[in-house]
Amino acid sequence: MILENLAQVREYIDCSIQKRTKNFGFNEVKLIAVTKNHDIYAMRKAIDAGINVIGENRVQEALDKYESLERTVEWHLIGHLQTNKVKQAIKIFDVIQSVDSEKLVLEINRVATKLNKIQDILVQINVAREESKFGIEYNDVTAFIQFISNLKNVHVCGLMTIAPHYNDSEMARPTFRKLYEIFDKLKQQNFKNVEMKWLSMGMTNDYKIAIEEGANIVRIGTGIFGARQY
Ligand SMILES: *Cc1c(COP(=O)(O)O)cnc(C)c1O
Repeated sequence: MILENLAQVREYIDCSIQKRTKNFGFNEVKLIAVTKNHDIYAMRKAIDAGINVIGENRVQEALDKYESLERTVEWHLIGHLQTNKVKQAIKIFDVIQSVDSEKLVLEINRVATKLNKIQDILVQINVAREESKFGIEYNDVTAFIQFISNLKNVHVCGLMTIAPHYNDSEMARPTFRKLYEIFDKLKQQNFKNVEMKWLSMGMTNDYKIAIEEGANIVRIGTGIFGARQY
């Protein structure tokens, strides 16, 4: 199934790029296979079918898989990160997409300095201000990015959001549009050490709309691997 699902997802991604009514300045979309709760066999299949970026939510789960996966891929952390897990996270993740507080980003900078790494991050934004979700408040984003721009071992390369879940994905469109607006504004502002390159928005339920609104990273689990068993 993974092969067929992937082919379909890729086709939808291309269609959604075609459907854009606006020029966002980029035409490629990076597909992240979200492998939380899926085993290493499923991961190997996806990678053999061309997946080269993996998204995981939990550091421990990712570590276990990282050690048994004999394939080279890019690893993105997309779930909330606790400060006591930062060291392990920095060792395996190429990008931490879920940076959502000053305390966390300071710890990332501290540990990255020690490990002599410049850690790529995205800032997670809670656009719809949902209580149940992590992320910086929309109105605080610029100040937060300015704060990070002074940290030498952290490199901001974009923004991430999780839209509220709607049965009709069309309802998520304003959330995505709003995130693109601030992404574009931050790009114009050109803060030092800050690159507005990646806009990570859209999951199985809503990635088509997200792409139409400017996403250039989508994070897809169910659409590739089927429903997760918990
Ligand atoms: C689980 C998860 C995804 C993937 O969700 P699907 O609905 O299975 O595609 C994407 N992003 C984040 C942050 C997630 O936690």
